[in-house]
Amino acid sequence: MIDINQNIQFLSGVGPKRAELLAAEASIRTVEDFLYYFPYRYIDKTRFYKISEINSSEIHIQLKGVISDIEEVGDKYRKRLTAKLTDYSGEIELVWFKGIKWMKSFLKSGSEYVVFGKPSYFNRQLTMAHPEIDLAEKADNDQLSGLQAMYPSTEKLKNSYITSKVFSKILQGVFYNLQGKIPETLPAWFITKYKLLNLNDALYNMHFPQSNELLKQAEYRIKLEELFLIQLNLISQKSYRNQRFKGFIFEKVGDYFNNFYKKNLPFELTNAQKRVVKEIRKDIGSGRQMNRLLQGDVGSGKTLVALMTMLIGLDNSFQACLMAPTEILANQHFETVLKFLKGLEIEVALLTGSTKKRDRTILHERLQSGEIQILIGTHALIEDTVVFNNLGMVIIDEQHRFGVAQRAKLWGKNVNPPHVLVMTATPIPRTLSMTLYGDLDVSVIDELPPGRKPIKTVHRFDSKRLEVFGFIKSQIKEGRQIYIVYPLIKESEKMDYKDLEDGYESIVRAFPLPEFKVSIVHGKMKSADKDLEMNRFVTGQTNIMVATTVIEVGVDVPNASVMIIESAERFGLSQLHQLRGRVGRGADQSYCILMTSYKLTDDGRKRIETMVRTTDGFEIAETDLQLRGPGDMEGTQQSGIAFDLKLANLAKDGQLLQYARNIAEEIINDDPLLQKPENSILLNQLKKQKKSKVNWGIIS
Ligand code: ADP
Ligand code: MG
Repeated sequence: MIDINQNIQFLSGVGPKRAELLAAEASIRTVEDFLYYFPYRYIDKTRFYKISEINSSEIHIQLKGVISDIEEVGDKYRKRLTAKLTDYSGEIELVWFKGIKWMKSFLKSGSEYVVFGKPSYFNRQLTMAHPEIDLAEKADNDQLSGLQAMYPSTEKLKNSYITSKVFSKILQGVFYNLQGKIPETLPAWFITKYKLLNLNDALYNMHFPQSNELLKQAEYRIKLEELFLIQLNLISQKSYRNQRFKGFIFEKVGDYFNNFYKKNLPFELTNAQKRVVKEIRKDIGSGRQMNRLLQGDVGSGKTLVALMTMLIGLDNSFQACLMAPTEILANQHFETVLKFLKGLEIEVALLTGSTKKRDRTILHERLQSGEIQILIGTHALIEDTVVFNNLGMVIIDEQHRFGVAQRAKLWGKNVNPPHVLVMTATPIPRTLSMTLYGDLDVSVIDELPPGRKPIKTVHRFDSKRLEVFGFIKSQIKEGRQIYIVYPLIKESEKMDYKDLEDGYESIVRAFPLPEFKVSIVHGKMKSADKDLEMNRFVTGQTNIMVATTVIEVGVDVPNASVMIIESAERFGLSQLHQLRGRVGRGADQSYCILMTSYKLTDDGRKRIETMVRTTDGFEIAETDLQLRGPGDMEGTQQSGIAFDLKLANLAKDGQLLQYARNIAEEIINDDPLLQKPENSILLNQLKKQKKSKVNWGIIS
């Protein structure tokens, strides 16, 4: 008998050469890896199709008929072999471009064959290229054997003839050898309670489905287990943290908060903002350390909530800090906070990479003495030299731009960890936030401040550029400011900068001084120059801002009313949404113009259509997830999530995910440290997960 941890080299049908190849190409090293290398689809050999009933060219089907008209056609450079297959209902052409000689000797006119492949229409004629083919009399034995697994393959695997059939053959041997003794990974009570297949049956049916129904059950068990274990990990971490760390109790709302609220708050809070502040207050007054995610659409007023949260910290004699991912954004937060707090005698300081050494030394001292009450800045905040007197509240803006270690560092800036509020730039779909931030409590601002005019979004092809320029001019004449954004995609950075520079030149030509003044900002500029240009635009000295996506995050210029995005098809949806969020912040009607060439991929077109259709960030995020799949979403890559889910799909399995989370919560409530004997398997699973490359709990 074999062991699932055994190297595959010794399996029959493998050997050292294939073992090496399978490890390199498919990361299959152990028997267990093999068992979890799942087919990407199954083909239906349970029946023969009539040729006359073929109407879709999408699926692989099986036909049975008589071969005739075997013919070699073409010249010696581009030869092909064709043959006709006829059944009682119609005929189809079979065609081969390779292996012609062998196939020609194999085919016998007038004999009956079974063929298997994907039909398509070529010059309105039904054809099937390179079908699997066998003499009917030989094929009969194992032909109607049911659903057959097709395995993901690579060029190298194909070249070495490691086909799906080979996979199946090896796996057949594996199952035979294991004799049903694959160690179960879920507790027996769990399998009974949730009516699951046991692991052995589930894995077997994944590779050799005994019926459609059993295949469904197998997939269900594997997916549920995957999602459940992730949630169990997250929830057990959260529960552990709550027991381990006592949070500072901020029960008081005092003068800082109240004075701000009564004297300085320039507008009424939205209901959503009020609700969220309440949720936060309840959390930080409870004696637990807060770890909360604040989700809200662009422009929903997260900064204000962050500020009020910090003020509660101050009211309880603690310091607070706010960390942003870029210098521009940190500066802007600093300005905003100063403005909001005017006349309230609160010490606010700014610390970024460009803070001069001398200023920094002074700042460090003032921070350590407790004189500075609110510190705003970039990554510079987490350096070891930055020591707080008594840090109690940490806000992290645009959370997804920071790594694991950075958040951990802020935790360490007081003897007991401070309360932490992290904010996202744009909404993320529920399934993703449940997985990426599943150990956090979540607050959602689902309402924009009143009086905002919805941004009008249109799609224009490049050929309409002159018209668009005309529109820009009319807007500038009315005193508005304009953004024009160019894509910057790393693989072809040089070319992208050329796009930007060419664009800049043509814009300067089309919009001459003195009426029009153009700023340019991009990532290759020195940060001082960047700030200078940005500032010229913010203060209204220039009226057109040509930029790359460096302006994406957070920048607030209420007088800017038009966002033009060049080569919009090259941007992701969340980026487009972020960019659009830069306008529509003032009282005037705002516009977003998406420029593209005529060449659009299906996905590109869908992204543009989505942007034109809706301004709802949650809807856009969901569409983004459906289009791109979880692997390409922001944040999922750092976490390893893209690689670790073998079967479950966060774009599709939302309901199952919620179910899995509920189960995990129930178990941790009942047995927080998983100490009950019947849960020992689960405890082991968590330990195993911690050793693997993905650490779900720590990424938030
Ligand atoms: P984001 O959530 O994208 O960070 P901001 O916090 O930058 O949004 O807020 C966007 C704009 O809305 C700011 O100019 C802010 O002052 C304003 N704002 C925030 N809350 C309200 C409110 N309740 N009523 C009116 N304007 C608000
Ligand atoms: Mg913001």
